[in-house]
Amino acid sequence: MIRTISTAIATAAGLALGAASACAEETRWALVLHGGAGVIERGDMDEATEAAYRSALGGALALGAAMLEAGAPAIDVVEAMIQALEDDALFNAGRGAVFTSDGRIEHDASVMRASDLQAGAVAGVRGVRHPISLARAVMEDSPHVMLQGAGAESFADEQGLERIDESFFFTERRWRAMERQVEAMGLPVPPRPGGAPEPEPVREGSLQQMEREHRFGTVGVVALDRSGEMVAGTSTGGTTAKRWGRVGDSPVIGAGTYAGGDCGVSATGTGEYFIRLSVAARICARIELASEDGQTAADTVIQDELTAMGGDGGVVMLHAGAPLWSFNTSGMYRAAQIAGGEPVVAIFDDEG
Ligand code: ASP
Repeated sequence: MIRTISTAIATAAGLALGAASACAEETRWALVLHGGAGVIERGDMDEATEAAYRSALGGALALGAAMLEAGAPAIDVVEAMIQALEDDALFNAGRGAVFTSDGRIEHDASVMRASDLQAGAVAGVRGVRHPISLARAVMEDSPHVMLQGAGAESFADEQGLERIDESFFFTERRWRAMERQVEAMGLPVPPRPGGAPEPEPVREGSLQQMEREHRFGTVGVVALDRSGEMVAGTSTGGTTAKRWGRVGDSPVIGAGTYAGGDCGVSATGTGEYFIRLSVAARICARIELASEDGQTAADTVIQDELTAMGGDGGVVMLHAGAPLWSFNTSGMYRAAQIAGGEPVVAIFDDEG
């Protein structure tokens, strides 16, 4: 199933690019984001939940669009938008992240800048309110690209980034989803963490929806600012009931996040496949080396190669200033806008 961005936005992006080349001193801005992909089907989702997702996606998009319109740098836009999504318990990032099989929350995040291929990433960090900000600090204030675990947390402290008790990230529905998963795996259910609120009822439908959505809910943004700089970023809690310090694709530069030349990608899906295929860098490499257009490159990697391997998920991306997406699941939470264009917010595969 090929799911790509609407003709309306692509046409508008083409117009925007034409305008940009006619007026080379000021690049037109562009923005695309995702909030995860999976089996997300009409009829499975109640109206209130769908409205909440659309409002969250639209709110993050509006925040980024306003910043870009005002001339903010892409890195600030990506950080601010992902911070907002990290604070929203709907998404599997920051607050609302999934639990490990032993009842902890371990975040992964990364960011990459196109102009100089600078990148920063963190894996398996606990108690950092905004993992995306830590990834940015790694890029800007350390000589390294990826930090993990306790060392990354010490670096967060040195950088004065906000630390927060792990109970802040606790959500009942993610806890219940983990309980179901560890039971299915034949593992003991870990004790409820200290500081967690009293158990509250979770609708069976909501749990089933999360299972159908698979483990996803990762967030990602690619932004092109008026100066022509492009930045891609991704943030996640990983996969439900992950074990043994598992790290997915989201913090792996080239797999879950990539920005180089005029191509920027953020991915979501079963991370193991995205790492093995180097999905994000592979799409950009097809554009650069095989002279493919962005949509063809994305569709080849997602619809053909990822699907053939048995992987599921998708990407949002900017190529030459145009927002694109491609996913092989029945839905992906996503949104896009370009300078002078209307916002597009979509969830199901038959939209956008
Ligand atoms: N890609 C993420 C991971 O495997 C999961 C997701 O996209 O939701 O960690």
